[in-house]
Amino acid sequence: MKPYIEEAQSGKRISAQGFAVQNKTARFTPFSFSRHPLGENDILIEILYAGICHSDIHSARSEWREGIYPMVPGHEIAGRVVAVGKDVSKFKVGDFAGVGCMVNSCGKCPACLKSREQFCENRQTVFTYDCLDCFHNNEPTYGGYSNNIVVSEKFAVCVAPNAPLDKVAPLLCAGITTYSPLKFSNVQEGSRVGVAGFGGLGVMAVKYAIKMGAKVSVFARNTRKKNEAEKLGAALYTNEELKTLHEKFDLIISTIPTAYDPMLYVNLLDYGGELCFVGLPPQSAMPTIPINALVYNANKRVYGSLIGGIAETQEMLDFSLKHQIFPETELILPAQIDEAYQKLTTGSGQFRYVMDMQKL
Ligand code: NDP
Ligand code: ZN
Repeated sequence: MKPYIEEAQSGKRISAQGFAVQNKTARFTPFSFSRHPLGENDILIEILYAGICHSDIHSARSEWREGIYPMVPGHEIAGRVVAVGKDVSKFKVGDFAGVGCMVNSCGKCPACLKSREQFCENRQTVFTYDCLDCFHNNEPTYGGYSNNIVVSEKFAVCVAPNAPLDKVAPLLCAGITTYSPLKFSNVQEGSRVGVAGFGGLGVMAVKYAIKMGAKVSVFARNTRKKNEAEKLGAALYTNEELKTLHEKFDLIISTIPTAYDPMLYVNLLDYGGELCFVGLPPQSAMPTIPINALVYNANKRVYGSLIGGIAETQEMLDFSLKHQIFPETELILPAQIDEAYQKLTTGSGQFRYVMDMQKL
């Protein structure tokens, strides 16, 4: 039996191994650490696959705020349950489970009671990494670039035994982050949807929107992925063409992680159309919208969206499996994290890099 399973069963701290950065400019190196003991309502998951989200890059490089180091990123986690606390009812040993961006919250406030745990009103949302865990002596959380994770069962989603786990992992962030605003904006048959930024999140937005019956366009900064967009049934436009485009949209979801002018997209909305921001550029390059530009472009709605709650994450996963909607992935080794980050920040990235964590 793996030592960390024995540790969990005997109530000890759980030893873990992964890859961490020691500061915002460092490369990833192997890192040994420990996780809090298995609580009565916790499950221990052996991580089999972990996706690389662009948020991991922003966090590891302290692009939003100063990060907590050493940092083990990773919030797109799929694996097998290897130990359960005595009060766990949702999982048994051997089940597959997924973990996304959160591992705990207060569970009692109005937001948590509506399963909007990412907006816990007691400010007790515990994010999967780069966060201090107020339920465990404020120890730092460590994410999925590792061999195991212990999490409150409420924050793990059930994954069917026949699901392709390497494809399921990215659904836990890229999937839910795009599914949630499509539902919020009530996308349906005939909706005209634009997706800005065609990477890990963008491709999921396109696939879900098409499944929901929308007519979908993609806005990218070049034509590199034109074929992929067309194969999915979408038209692809570059930033340059947008300035003269006459088409109008009901909803545009921006997944762009770099500096840009949001008005470019507001201008493409029809009367009453909506622009949803999910992409979060670095703080130093955060786009802004002048109020006067919105007033003179009246009656268009602009909102932001943060992942999705746990109930909606389970709904998204069930929807994805039912309709066989999966991310476009490339399987890599954990030792290739820096290489993947390099590609994703220099315009040569594919859609989603997923690490085979059994090759740690
Ligand atoms: P990726 O790197 O996989 O994809 C980003 C895509 O945006 C790439 O295809 C890139 O193009 C394209 N892009 C970059 N700049 C521009 C531009 N100026 N105009 C048009 N396209 C552009 O990132 P992810 O999909 O993983 O993440 C995207 C963003 O979403 C990140 O900021 C991330 O932090 C955020 N995020 C937010 C969440 C939320 O809850 N709100 C949850 C998860 C992520 P190219 O192919 O040329 O590089
Ligand atoms: Zn993410």
